[in-house]
Amino acid sequence: KKVADRYLKREVLGEGTYGVVYKAIDTKTGQTVAIKKIRLGKQKEGVNFTALREIKLLKELKDPNIIELIDAFPHKGNLHLVFEFMETDLEAVIRDRNIVLSPTDIKSYLQMTLKGLAFCHKKWVLHRDMKPNNLLIGPRGQLKLADFGLARIFGSPDRRAPELLFGAKQYGPGVDVWAAACIFAELLLRRPFLQGSSDIDQLGKIFAAFGTPKPSQWPDMIYLPDYVEYQFVPGQPLRTLFPMASDDALDLLSKMFAYDPKARISAQQALEHRYFSSGPPPTEPALLPRPP
Ligand code: ADP
Repeated sequence: KKVADRYLKREVLGEGTYGVVYKAIDTKTGQTVAIKKIRLGKQKEGVNFTALREIKLLKELKDPNIIELIDAFPHKGNLHLVFEFMETDLEAVIRDRNIVLSPTDIKSYLQMTLKGLAFCHKKWVLHRDMKPNNLLIGPRGQLKLADFGLARIFGSPDRRAPELLFGAKQYGPGVDVWAAACIFAELLLRRPFLQGSSDIDQLGKIFAAFGTPKPSQWPDMIYLPDYVEYQFVPGQPLRTLFPMASDDALDLLSKMFAYDPKARISAQQALEHRYFSSGPPPTEPALLPRPP
């Protein structure tokens, strides 16, 4: 009944992009874990070996703001990934109408998100699928990024950053910073920001908010594979879009939402921004509000 002679399966936690997630007990440590079962299907053997080798590298990514990958093994044609178990996620926090997020709570959640990102970017690993339900929250309020590096191995539908929407094949950590900016915006607005129904619609939403990028603003744009010229729209001042945000918050947000990925602020630089060093400090994780 034990999986891999070690894990006792409990209930199903949910179904994700790659497959079912179970709650389980690690009999070796007594720890509660989450096991993600990834269908490998009828892919060539070689693909699985490549995946396993890359997964081995992810096991080395250890940081307080990254979900620990405890174990990984193939079992009955599925790849099993064992992660530390987390109570809830940022999407549940954003959606819970009974939760009030103060400016310092938002600062704290964003800081933990950027710390996890900066750590992985330093190790040359991109997330590529940053969204509030991938930001898990532990019992002491610590936020940890989940699914790091999986998008590259198993494929990902995420297309949030403008360079990805224009079909860029070579892209960098900037795609995660753009996605983190969307999460920052969602924390401020308490609703999804720039969520389109298709790539075209998504770009339309981005341009309607920030204005059509001028080639002077983003010189490499016109060379991207799927670039098409959009009718000019002026966009709105950030202040109008985020009436409640502080000046420091808006300044950081505008730098994370830079169109040109080369001009976009890095996760590390964002952590060094005035928003984090001046004004009221981020809320202690243990004191952050979260769902019951
Ligand atoms: P998605 O692919 O949509 O991001 P996931 O595969 O990450 O979804 O997760 C599916 C479900 O399992 C979600 O409800 C999520 O809350 C839960 N889950 C995923 N990882 C963990 C974890 N480490 N601890 C507790 N629950 C988890």
